[in-house]
Amino acid sequence: MTKALYPGSFDPITNGHIDIASRAAAVFDELVLGVYATPAKNLMFTTDERVEMAKEALAHLPNVTVTTYTGLTVHAAQKMGAAVLVRGLRAITDFQAEFELGLMNRLLTPNVETVCLMTERRYSFVSSSLLKEACALGGDISELVPRHVHEALQEKLRLRVK
Ligand code: ADP
Repeated sequence: MTKALYPGSFDPITNGHIDIASRAAAVFDELVLGVYATPAKNLMFTTDERVEMAKEALAHLPNVTVTTYTGLTVHAAQKMGAAVLVRGLRAITDFQAEFELGLMNRLLTPNVETVCLMTERRYSFVSSSLLKEACALGGDISELVPRHVHEALQEKLRLRVK
């Protein structure tokens, strides 16, 4: 049984993330999507909101669970018994950062392997930050996120304006 951890901020989860989670769920016996609680980023959603949105988005995948973690990703992987870290590659521009992260994680914990999966072409330009920006400016990003995430984004932006 191979268990894998797919870590990230997921602020919010997008169709690109769901694509990677679906691919990973087909390759590994068990996949845990790990929502990193305190990334060095300005977050739009709370940890609970990010977890709930991811749970709903991945409910159709029986071997996928969603959890949150703090601290080093490799330590979280070890604690949950995951031998693999899954990361998504959109374009060559992601490669450099993922390569560095993968090598750092290997230095920290040699027995946790990083596996990068390539996204579906139509999601290769999708990032949480870009779609939040487009949505905040009134753009229609409905084909890039599940319906419940789109609604949550719109609600968050409505509250911000008030
Ligand atoms: P992080 O803060 O760790 O970069 P993200 O939530 O932004 O967290 O992304 C988590 C992982 O998902 C990263 O490996 C990232 O490259 C990947 N990812 C993000 N967007 C996409 C996408 N559209 N297609 C494939 N992978 C993606």
